[in-house]
This record gives sequence, structure tokens and C-alpha cells, in this order.
Amino acid sequence: MSAQTKVALITGASRGIGAAIAQRLSHSGYAVVINYAKQAQAAEALATQLIAAGGQALAVQADVAQMEQVVSLFDQAEQAFGGIDVLVNNAGIMTLAPIAELEQQQIDQQLDINLKGSIYCLQQAANRLRNGGSVVNLSSSVVGLNLESYGVYAASKAAIESLSRIMAKEMRGRNISVNAVAPGPTATELFLKDKPEQLIERLADMNPLQRLASAEDIAAVVNFLVSPDGAWVNGQVLRANGGMV
Ligand code: NDP
Repeated sequence: MSAQTKVALITGASRGIGAAIAQRLSHSGYAVVINYAKQAQAAEALATQLIAAGGQALAVQADVAQMEQVVSLFDQAEQAFGGIDVLVNNAGIMTLAPIAELEQQQIDQQLDINLKGSIYCLQQAANRLRNGGSVVNLSSSVVGLNLESYGVYAASKAAIESLSRIMAKEMRGRNISVNAVAPGPTATELFLKDKPEQLIERLADMNPLQRLASAEDIAAVVNFLVSPDGAWVNGQVLRANGGMV
């Protein structure tokens, strides 16, 4: 590996937006660490595909909601590639229900994975990222929409936006930027599952470009933020939603 190769760790990269980010950053020359929770086959297949295309990639299983597994994830990334320059905090889940009807498990899982998991990763990144690196956290445009049934999910993402702004300041002196990307509806399993076709069409039509985002649309925004072109953007939330909100 050349001394110049930068390393990006993407959580939840076995599929959806995370997989597209891993692909895009690999094409940009990063060695990528593809974290996943359960879908080992998909994560390994992506790593194999990126290596076959001339890149460097490693799939690592870790539940981001478990602090010791997050520490091990960062350990394995450093052992494989010698250091970490970029963290993309992407792993997330969504369960929709009015606040009055939420089951305890739905509350706990969303906060454990989306919020606590992101904090565990941010903590490792704050202590271990090489100077000059960057962090991108995945928020959601529902923070701006305030739709019914999105309460806990939106709250977990609003917290991510606060963490991004505060950690950006805490990285003073390290030349590390911290930003959040807040996608609108994006055609992945997280968004599409359990939604009737009519509702999908209605949500897709809420932005003036009148379509869902692709995972690649969002990966392009993350790629911009971690590239030299995005270097002056710091402590910001970039909504990528076709103009929905
Ligand atoms: P998907 O459901 O398509 O993929 C989720 C990914 O997260 C999978 O790789 C999954 O791994 C991983 N994951 C889930 N739980 C854990 C865990 N505990 N530890 C580690 N990895 C985990 O989701 P999307 O790609 O749609 O979403 C990615 C991010 O973007 C999320 O943070 C989401 O909230 C956000 N977002 C998505 C939008 C959308 O419309 N799709 C809109 C706005 C924001 P495995 O395959 O192993 O289960």
C-alpha cells in the first residue's frame, strides 16, 4: 500500500447508502473498511468486487451499538491499513409509529444504533483519526419535515446534527472536519420496506425534482465532503433531498 493511500471506515456498508459510499470512496482511491451487522455475504461480496477493480477493501462485522465491538472495528481497520482518515457514520435503522404507540424495543433499538452507536464511533474517531481527516454523519431530512410517526427516528438524527456541530469544534488543531449529510427519501430497503406504492410515489413527489434519491446521489455528496473540494465545509448539515425541505 502506498504511503499516500487514505483509509475510510464506513459503518453499515453492506448495502444501501453505505455500500454506495464505500464504492464511491474506493473509486476515489480510498482503502475502505466495510462494516456490517448481519449481512456478511453482501459485505464480503462488495469487498471482493472493489478489490477485483483494483481497490483495497476489508469487510468487518461489528454491531455499532456495542462499544467493545466498535473498538474492535477500529482496531481491525488500523491493523489492516495502518490508520484511519475518514469515518462515515452511516449505520442506522428506522421504525415508524406514533409516539403513543411505540414499543420499548422500537425506542431502544433506534436510540442504541442510530444515536449511541454513532457516539461510540465518533469517540473512537476523535481519538484515532489521523490529522487532516474528516467525519461525515448520516442525519435525515425528516429533522426538517417533522412528519408524524418519525418521532424517535427524527430525534436520533437531530442529535446527530448537534454532535456534528460540537465535534467539529472539538477537533480544533487537528485539521479534521465534521459534517452531517441529511438525505431525503432514498431508494433503499430502509425507506421502501412496508410502504405501499402510492405512498412511495407521494413522498417521491414532495421534492421539485420529483424522484427518490438513489444511494449514489447521497454517496456523491459524502465524496464531496471528504474530498479536497469540501475541505472548507465544517460543522454543517448538508440536506440532500432534491429541494424537499
Ligand atoms: P439500509 O437499511 O439499506 O442499510 C442499513 C445498513 O446499516 C446495513 O448495511 C446494515 O447492515 C447496517 N446496520 C444496521 N444496524 C447495524 C448495527 N447495529 N451495526 C452495524 N451496522 C448496522 O439503510 P440506508 O442505506 O437507507 O440508510 C443508511 C443511513 O442513511 C441510515 O443512517 C439512515 O437513517 C440514513 N437515511 C436514509 C434515508 C433513506 O431514505 N433511505 C433517508 C435519510 C437518512 P446489515 O446489512 O448487516 O444488516
